[in-house]
Amino acid sequence: MSKKKNRPHGHYCKICGEYKANEKFSGKGHAAHICKACSSLSAAEKAEAMDMNRLMSFPMRRLSESEKKWLKAKMKDNCPEVADMAKEVYNICFPHAECNAMKKQLIINILSFKVHTEVYDRYGDMEMADCLFTIDRKSRTLTMTDFHTDSGEQSVVLDGGKMAKLLRYIVHTLEIFMWEQDYCLNPDGDDFFTDILLKEGIYVDDLGEKGEALPEEPEGRPSWQVHIEYSNHTVQDISGFDDYLPERPEELYLSFMEYFESDYEIL
Ligand SMILES: [Zn+2]
Repeated sequence: MSKKKNRPHGHYCKICGEYKANEKFSGKGHAAHICKACSSLSAAEKAEAMDMNRLMSFPMRRLSESEKKWLKAKMKDNCPEVADMAKEVYNICFPHAECNAMKKQLIINILSFKVHTEVYDRYGDMEMADCLFTIDRKSRTLTMTDFHTDSGEQSVVLDGGKMAKLLRYIVHTLEIFMWEQDYCLNPDGDDFFTDILLKEGIYVDDLGEKGEALPEEPEGRPSWQVHIEYSNHTVQDISGFDDYLPERPEELYLSFMEYFESDYEIL
């Protein structure tokens, strides 16, 4: 594929992305922004050329969700040239994308997810959430402790397939291992989260007095925290200090809550 210099005086072809002299366009093609050479291409070839064109001029900034979605879709394009280019662009836009390859090998053994902020419930009502979820892959147990009520720890045991599916969703769809980068968070000391888990009762009850014991957290109590242990012995601790749950932590929260709704049996 040749790449000519842009010539601002020419006419733009939306297929090949080149600026060409007017005589390179038919009357109809001129209006449609398709040059004569490109108009003889098959529909598939046109689509491929347009994809390549868009990929080569892809913006190098923080992408919108729809741009990201498009790019991800193109990485699986049937045309290998498009797919390769999309992967190349993706790696430039997302320097941590090598994690994607790692994703396939990431298996969560243990996960804790703590939420202490206002959330929307599935009906769109705001409510204060103060709870802890845990997952243990080996025992296939999902637990929830709601600190707002005295109901204690509730747990469900998922069948093997459902547990595997849930864990895959957390890694592959929610990309939990990327949250640190995605949400620009204050990295925690490794022992911070563990300490909270161990001292949970004390911490919740005596927050005011214990607050000064955590000087490394200038913005106060995290609104959410995850602790993940993978089968490859990687451990991640990630916390957010916004006064709301960002998109994917919220999705995780809602998907966990589904298991503890009264109509659990439909799942
Ligand atoms: Zn063209």
